Amino acid sequence: MTQSSKPTSPLDLIVRGGKLVIPGVGQIKSDIGIRGGKVALLGQDLAEPAAEYYDATGRVVLPGIFDPHTHLGNERSYESEAETETRAAVLGGVTTIGIFLRSLEDSYFDHLPSFRRAMDQHSYVDSVFHPQIFTEQQIDEIPGYAEEYGIRSFKFYMSGMPGIVKSVTDDVLLEGFRRVASLGPDAVACVHCETGALIDRARSQLAVRKPEGTLADWEDAHPAIAEALSIQTALYLAKVAGAHLYVVHLSSWQGLDVVRAARRAGANFTVETMTPYLGINSLDTNGFLVKMVPPVRTPEHQAALWKGVLDGSINTVGTDNTSRARSTKRPEAGLHGSRPGYAVLGTHLPALLHYGREAGVPLDILVERATRAPARVYGIYPQKGTIAVGSDADLVVVDLELERVVRAEDLQGMSDFSPFEGKRLRGWPIATIKGGKIVARDGKIVAPANGRYLPRRPGPAPSLEWFDRVRSLELVR
Ligand SMILES: [Zn+2]
Repeated sequence: MTQSSKPTSPLDLIVRGGKLVIPGVGQIKSDIGIRGGKVALLGQDLAEPAAEYYDATGRVVLPGIFDPHTHLGNERSYESEAETETRAAVLGGVTTIGIFLRSLEDSYFDHLPSFRRAMDQHSYVDSVFHPQIFTEQQIDEIPGYAEEYGIRSFKFYMSGMPGIVKSVTDDVLLEGFRRVASLGPDAVACVHCETGALIDRARSQLAVRKPEGTLADWEDAHPAIAEALSIQTALYLAKVAGAHLYVVHLSSWQGLDVVRAARRAGANFTVETMTPYLGINSLDTNGFLVKMVPPVRTPEHQAALWKGVLDGSINTVGTDNTSRARSTKRPEAGLHGSRPGYAVLGTHLPALLHYGREAGVPLDILVERATRAPARVYGIYPQKGTIAVGSDADLVVVDLELERVVRAEDLQGMSDFSPFEGKRLRGWPIATIKGGKIVARDGKIVAPANGRYLPRRPGPAPSLEWFDRVRSLELVR
């Protein structure tokens, strides 16, 4: 097989001898010829001259991973984390991220120029933006954000987090959904699905019942029924408004059951879970270093989430990266005082590969959920999310057998802990090619950052037919 786009000059790079994992196509032995930051040629034993060669014999080559769900600038400045956290990302095989921007009060027009500049000047990875919508003014400006910055996705919190983000009420949610829907069928309304009143009561009760406690108790502050109930509300309001709902960070089997029931009834929406939920459970010995909202839950939930990933009722896998230092995470402050959030961009792909294979999920499905699926939903496919002639040359070369113990200092982000700290994971990237350049190699950064912000254009409505066949919609209970 040789696909060609009429070579005009020598290739910049040939990746030789690897086994490519191409979502929707399969596993193919092929060289990859790269020119001008794009895939220019695919075929076995490419004989074209090239400036550089990378030998991937015995390795698999995946499309660069797209983590659709990260937060930057929570702890240090946005500019600083745009560099440090994307450095960790690219070392871990992630080449594009979706960033949930936060402005609790101001118009995003006040901040978008600097957010964008940071991604163009400091980031190792490409990026799309999902502004988090809190105010009426921001709702009114949604069409302007789309027009001026090519933004096609927005996020709403049905339950906020004290001191971090605010909740929106159902009327604001409906207005927001209507404004998102007005952009076109491809526009996406992302929702943090938890019913705020249920969370508030559960938290207060837990504080009385368990002034001190363990990581396992944290689940009681964020009961799964709050997730399940709010997914139903969000689905209903999204249907009324005609908006495409994207449920972020699904964490529970009760939530998954609501998802499956809605899919059975024909609802078209997208569901995401995160590698920390798939890899870590509430019995974890790292204790409050793993505290998150929603929480990591019991192994029973975890097994259900893996089934969802396998059978297609969960479409995408991201990280919810919210980097913190140990000094502000404050695990010593216990059940109520320690803070949610952790840096997980650098462990995203190894955790997916390690725990996914343990759970019996085929490699092709793991890769699809972390590349093509989110790229399609967020309107950047086939530029991203595949390996094809004309696509961006964002690739990750993986040694599926390489085992490493996770240590925060090796991840090279700003954080001095990882929730996966001390775990031995099998399957690590050994090189990341971003925009046609080898940027990371054998755990080291070897080229300057070359990430760009990606404005998006209107496109088709996300469709369930895009994803792997949904094999089963059996309810867990
Ligand atoms: Zn998040």
